[in-house]
Amino acid sequence: MLTVIIPAYNEADNILITSETICQILEDNQIEYELIFIDDGSKDDTFEKIKCANQLMQNIKGYKFSRNFGKEMAISAGLNFSKGECCAVLDCDLQHPPEILVDMYNKWLEGYKIIEGIKVNRGKEPVIYKFFSKIFYNIIYKLTKLDLCNSSDFKLLDRQVVDIIKKMPERRPFFRAMSFWCGFKSTKMEYEVKERKYGMTKWNFQGLFRYALSNITSFSSAPLQIVTILGVIFMILSAYLGSVTLYKYFMGAAVEGFSTVILLLLIMGGALMTSLGTIGYYIGKIYDEIKLRPKYIIEDQINA
Ligand code: UDP
Ligand code: MG
Repeated sequence: MLTVIIPAYNEADNILITSETICQILEDNQIEYELIFIDDGSKDDTFEKIKCANQLMQNIKGYKFSRNFGKEMAISAGLNFSKGECCAVLDCDLQHPPEILVDMYNKWLEGYKIIEGIKVNRGKEPVIYKFFSKIFYNIIYKLTKLDLCNSSDFKLLDRQVVDIIKKMPERRPFFRAMSFWCGFKSTKMEYEVKERKYGMTKWNFQGLFRYALSNITSFSSAPLQIVTILGVIFMILSAYLGSVTLYKYFMGAAVEGFSTVILLLLIMGGALMTSLGTIGYYIGKIYDEIKLRPKYIIEDQINA
């Protein structure tokens, strides 16, 4: 059986069309399936629409979060509730073409454990987003050697991989990279990002920036090493400046440069604060982890 996991946040208009489209395609191809909607604390009547969909098609299940916990948590919950021998994740807005699911499923039958959806285009997106996403993927690649360029959360995973991801306890999961990290026999499948069916994207620049920062620090401690390197560079520089000043002092040349002193103080202050901030960010993440709060709260469920 194939479990299809669909995170949904304020997607009331998309639920019925998305579920109908997916069910139709899977039934036409005689694939046994269950469809799990995770309502990520929507403020509109997304959950009521999931109930309607469930009345039309029995294989549809729904879980509702008590508030918005974010897409990563919704995927996490979907994986936890999944029963299939393989699980696929796709968006609720039909931007991930459901026809590809069948090809992914066939690849799984061939023995692949991870089938990655790779975007051939990035859809309608501001140029600045494209620019920063490139930088983000480059940094991730440099620091972790995970090539996530044009990857997405659209993928199909074997039960073995799902069980491993389920055991990862992190409170800020990065699904895209976590499946990569597992290894196994995997393949890529290209798809074209369609236009969103109804509604608007949930992302804004600030959200994306936070997402990028959180994911980079989740997968690499390199920023902490950069801080150390920065410290060493400053020490070498100050040793050099110190010896030059001392030399001048003994040669009888007056030590000048009040503004240099101020400038150096400012640079050092800035470097120290950045370093402290970086360390603080990691400590904050550790604090988040050790609190051991539940990852999400289920308020209601349908057909579970
Ligand atoms: N989503 C979610 N929780 C959120 C934000 C988004 O579950 O806090 C879901 C959303 O309903 C959709 C998917 O994640 O199914 C992708 O969101 P969106 O289409 O806004 O992102 P984009 O396609 O623009 O990257
Ligand atoms: Mg979308």
